[in-house]
Amino acid sequence: MSKNDLLSTTFVHAGRNKRFSQGAVNPVIQRASSLVFETIADKKYCTKNRYKGELFYGRRGTLTHFALQDLMCEIEGGAGCYLYPCGAAAVTNAILSFVKSGDHILMSGAAYEPTQDFCNIILKKMQIDTTYYDPLIGESIDQLIQPNTKVLFLESPSSITMEIPDIPSIVKAARAINPEIVIMIDNTWAAGVLFKALEHGIDISIQAGTKYLVGHSDVMIGTVVANDRTWEQLREHSYLMGQMADADSAYTTARGIRTLAVRLAQHHKSSVKVAKWLSEQPQVKAVYHPALPSCPGHEFFQRDFSGASGLFSFELNQRLTDVQVSKLMDHFKLFTMAYSWGGFESLILCHQPEEIVRIRPNIKRRLSGSLIRVHIGFENVDELIADLKAGFERIS
Ligand SMILES: *Cc1c(COP(=O)(O)O)cnc(C)c1O
Repeated sequence: MSKNDLLSTTFVHAGRNKRFSQGAVNPVIQRASSLVFETIADKKYCTKNRYKGELFYGRRGTLTHFALQDLMCEIEGGAGCYLYPCGAAAVTNAILSFVKSGDHILMSGAAYEPTQDFCNIILKKMQIDTTYYDPLIGESIDQLIQPNTKVLFLESPSSITMEIPDIPSIVKAARAINPEIVIMIDNTWAAGVLFKALEHGIDISIQAGTKYLVGHSDVMIGTVVANDRTWEQLREHSYLMGQMADADSAYTTARGIRTLAVRLAQHHKSSVKVAKWLSEQPQVKAVYHPALPSCPGHEFFQRDFSGASGLFSFELNQRLTDVQVSKLMDHFKLFTMAYSWGGFESLILCHQPEEIVRIRPNIKRRLSGSLIRVHIGFENVDELIADLKAGFERIS
C-alpha cells in the first residue's frame, strides 16, 4: 500500500470536528465579518485565543476556515495553515512574511512565471535581491548562499519544463551554511501530499489550492502549511497584509479534498499511460513526465515522491510553424486550451522554444522542438490518446 492510500482515510475524516460540522457530515458555511461576544469575559477570552480556534473577527476565520485549516495541517503535517485568496497570494505573502529591504532570496530559475515576475518587480522595488538557480543544482546551492540570504524557494517539478530538483541535497547543503534560512516550496503539482515537504526539512509548503485541492476548476484559493518554527510569523504577517479566503471557497476546497486520493490515483494512472504512448510516437523527441526516465531528475522523483499527478509536458521533434501550431491546437475534440490545470478535464498548451528561453533566462537547458504541456483529466484515456493521435496527423 502506498503512503497515499493510507492518506485517503485522512482526506475523508480530517477537519470534521463536531464543532465545525454541527451535526452534518460537512462543516457549516459560516459567512461572517461580525462575530458576536455574549459578555466582556467572552470577548476577552476570544481575543486572547483568536488564533487558537476561537471566533474573533471574520478576517481571522470562521468555523468553515478552521475546518479546512485543520484538514490541511493533518494532510501536510504542519503546525498551522494560512489561507489566501489564490495561489499567487500564497506564494508572495509567504515570501514577504520573511524578508526585509537588503535581504536576498534564492529562487528556482524554472519557477512558475508569475513567481519570478514577483521577484523581478515587487521584491526588486523593495531592494530585495533575487538569485535564480538551476533546479538541478543539487548541493552546489551552497555556493549561492550569502550572509543576507533569508529565503530559499523551491518548486518541484518545475512549471512547464518539469525538472525535479534533488531536494534533500539542496536542503542539507543550505542548512549546513545557514540553519536559519527559511526554506519554502511551491508544492502545487504534488497537491501537498505526493511530496511531503515538511518531512524533507522544508519549513513551508505552498499550494495553489485552485488546482488539485479544489479539483473542479471553479474556485481560487491558496494554502500555506508551516512548521513550528515559522508558523507564528507567517500567520501574523499574512494577517497584517490582509490575507484571507472567503468561507464559501474554504468550504469547496475542503469538499474537494474528500476525493483527492481517488482523483490523484486516476491522474497518475491516466497520465502515465498517455506519457508512455507519447514516448513511442515518431513526432515526439522526449516526454517530460516525472514518472518516466526521460524527465530530468526522474531519479529524485522515484526516491522522494509517492506518485504522480496529471500534468506533464513533451517536446516535439520539430519547432512547429505558426500554421502548424493552429492546425494542431485548434481542433482537439477533448483537450481544451487554458492556463490552469488540476481539474477533472484535460487541457493542452503549446510553448515555442524561444518562449521557454524568455521565461527561463537563467536556465542552461535548451529545447529545440515545440513543447506541449498537457493535463490529463478523467476522460477515457484511450479517447484522449486518439485525440492526440489525430492532432499529430494534422501536422504531418
Ligand atoms: C496556478 C499556479 C499558481 C498560482 O495559483 P493561482 O490560484 O492561479 O493564483 C502558483 N504556482 C503554481 C505552480 C501554479 O501552477
